[in-house]
Amino acid sequence: MSFAYMLKETLKNLLRRPITVESIIKNESVAVPERYRGIMNFDREACIGCLMCVRLCPTGTILTTEDKKVLFRVDRCIFCGQCAEICPKNAITMSSRSDVITEDRKQLVVK
Ligand code: SF4
Ligand code: SF4
Repeated sequence: MSFAYMLKETLKNLLRRPITVESIIKNESVAVPERYRGIMNFDREACIGCLMCVRLCPTGTILTTEDKKVLFRVDRCIFCGQCAEICPKNAITMSSRSDVITEDRKQLVVK
């Protein structure tokens, strides 16, 4: 990549309007594709504590709880959906919720 190219791209982007979706800034829901994987829903009653999801999760998002079930630290999640696929009780489903923006990480827990 040449210096001239980078300079041209930099100048071009400086003059562009921001492309951040306004509704995200306002923390509103945005339209997402049909197969979008957003924040997981967790059916605590259905969970049998097999911990297969904990072993499978590539990012350490799923932690065990004292009652031998699980909770999700959503700020670590990459929304791959593998936990939902492997759960034998369908206790995990991926929602279409895209509102994962917050200034307080403690709010990003599903349990
Ligand atoms: S969607 Fe992927 S990263 Fe997120 S909790 Fe499930 S397995 Fe882990
Ligand atoms: S895989 Fe499903 S049943 Fe097993 S611990 Fe995870 S959520 Fe519970």
